[in-house]
Amino acid sequence: MKRRSLKTTVPTHTVLEGGGFPVRRPAAMGSLMSPFLLLDEMGPVHWDPYSAIGAPDHPHRGFETVTYMLQGAMQHRDSAGNKGDLNPGDVQWMTAGRGIIHSELPQDEFYKTGGTTHGFQIWVNLPAKDKMMAPRYQDIPAKDIPSVRSEDGSVWANVIAGETMGVKAVIDTVIPITYLHMKMDRGSSHVQSIKSGLNGMIYVFGGTVHLDGRAVQDGQLALMTDGDEVLFEARDGDAEFLILAGPEIGEPIARYGPFVMNTREEIHQAVTDYQNGTLA
Ligand code: FE
Repeated sequence: MKRRSLKTTVPTHTVLEGGGFPVRRPAAMGSLMSPFLLLDEMGPVHWDPYSAIGAPDHPHRGFETVTYMLQGAMQHRDSAGNKGDLNPGDVQWMTAGRGIIHSELPQDEFYKTGGTTHGFQIWVNLPAKDKMMAPRYQDIPAKDIPSVRSEDGSVWANVIAGETMGVKAVIDTVIPITYLHMKMDRGSSHVQSIKSGLNGMIYVFGGTVHLDGRAVQDGQLALMTDGDEVLFEARDGDAEFLILAGPEIGEPIARYGPFVMNTREEIHQAVTDYQNGTLA
């Protein structure tokens, strides 16, 4: 077994997305960390009554958007007729494929009462051969997302994609993806297998976790070297983070707003299709 170590850490910055929604976003996500194009920590943000915002109708083509809610209440509607509520712990794995138009808005009741929104949206790239696949929508409620605790109870994981501590995810991914939400108590350690050759990274959003002996702090994305497994330790206190892994797609990326293709021509086609009403 070859241990992975820390390759580099990337700081996050807070940006306002979609008309004023604060997200923490690692700066170099798109270029550094295939197959992940974007990692947004949404909030945590407190909304007064009648002030919560979301993203009205917009298109996507060529990749997947994965939304994982921790707090708050969002509602999703799309051009394929799907409609779903996203409540704490729920995951929506949306494969835009050849095209989808959707809205991501606060649920009516939440909009009226206000409250806190916290969660993640991650964009997963698709290889060229899958970019124009039929759209697919997996809406998994919290109760169906497997979670697992270590024998001594000190490490907890929500298994969104991939596998940890003998528990496999229920979500089917187009390319092999690991997406784990980890909570570690102070003094605990955890060894995670990540198949050699896959790109691995963590995003810390609570406390500090040591990756192969090196500290990664709240709000940092850390990229790993290659190997079969990686050691995490919560030395200084409780720690909370995401583990993400997936293959290097190794194809050119042409990106324009909500479209991620391989060439400029394909981007032009996406824009034309959207304008002509034939994207979705
Ligand atoms: Fe979207």
